Amino acid sequence: MIDTNAFHDLSYGLYIVSAKLPDGRFVGCVANTFGQVASDPAKTSISLNKENTTTKAIQETGRLCISVLNESADMELIGKFGFNSSLDTEKFEGIEFELTDDGIPYVTQMSDAVFELEVEEAVDVGSHLLFVCDVLSANTIESEFPPMTYAYYHMVLKGRTPPRAATYVTKDSDFAEPGGSTAKAEDSPENIGDGPTIEVVEEIVTDGPKVGWQCSLCGYIVEMEELPDDFHCPICGADKSFFVKIEL
Ligand code: FE
Repeated sequence: MIDTNAFHDLSYGLYIVSAKLPDGRFVGCVANTFGQVASDPAKTSISLNKENTTTKAIQETGRLCISVLNESADMELIGKFGFNSSLDTEKFEGIEFELTDDGIPYVTQMSDAVFELEVEEAVDVGSHLLFVCDVLSANTIESEFPPMTYAYYHMVLKGRTPPRAATYVTKDSDFAEPGGSTAKAEDSPENIGDGPTIEVVEEIVTDGPKVGWQCSLCGYIVEMEELPDDFHCPICGADKSFFVKIEL
């Protein structure tokens, strides 16, 4: 048997993976599958969904950077990189980043370390490509926050796992698809664009419990009695059908 709960006992960090397309565009996504796999010389690996634009950029250029997110990272940053497509989102716009000597971008905000990697081998593991990488450089970034774990992301930020993540579990997952909608996730070509500006109700005066709506894609919560039909998540762009009513 395969008890999918066992997968929830695995521990991970949370990382922004960044690369540059051959045409010069900067792309990036969020992943939790980065890790060191050898010590002498140091090697790392990361698996990324084959459909991601970032994966394709890495395949074509053989170069990538990893920013190790820390616990100050918010859903705005994670949502921008993790729940939008690089095809229609300039992910580095408004983001603090720097470039390697080869012009590969890497995020410097809300991060504790950055790795510059060169792909040694790409292994086809089904839905994902597993990149085994040489470390070209590794540096820490001064910060007062510890690295973010995937558990922290789930428990404190109430973040969700997009279906394209390597660790997405189809059964017993915390990810729901209300209304039977097709889930749209990180780097999806059909992903949702920017939604309208949201008016977040600061306080609802009511005798009963406060109610709100939670985005089942990224975990964003808005305190509001009813969502307008044209409502879209400000973090991941999901439409109203992805929101689940909750008590606050
Ligand atoms: Fe969302």
